[in-house]
Amino acid sequence: MAHGHVNIDQERFKGCALCTEACVPGVLVMAADRFNARGYRPATLLDPDGRCTGCGLCALTCPDVCLTVYRTVSAPAPAGGRLVQRPVA
Ligand code: SF4
Ligand code: SF4
Repeated sequence: MAHGHVNIDQERFKGCALCTEACVPGVLVMAADRFNARGYRPATLLDPDGRCTGCGLCALTCPDVCLTVYRTVSAPAPAGGRLVQRPVA
């Protein structure tokens, strides 16, 4: 099972929303209540149920490299599970 977290550099945004369209579970959305210094609404991760899979599609889609995705994977191992956390995009 994989879970993701997205670090967002909001000041680089231009508000194109390509990343939100790429997010299959729909947990990356455009903020409705704030703007960055350039006057654009930033994307924000709205994921109270932990549905971000860490697929990295949002980061791959962003033309301005505003997003860094981390994925936590529970991998089965003979002695039990282990957690691996690494940037994926
Ligand atoms: S990593 Fe995947 S699931 Fe998570 S916010 Fe980005 S596109 Fe959505
Ligand atoms: S993170 Fe990138 S793709 Fe998403 S709205 Fe901002 S500039 Fe556009």
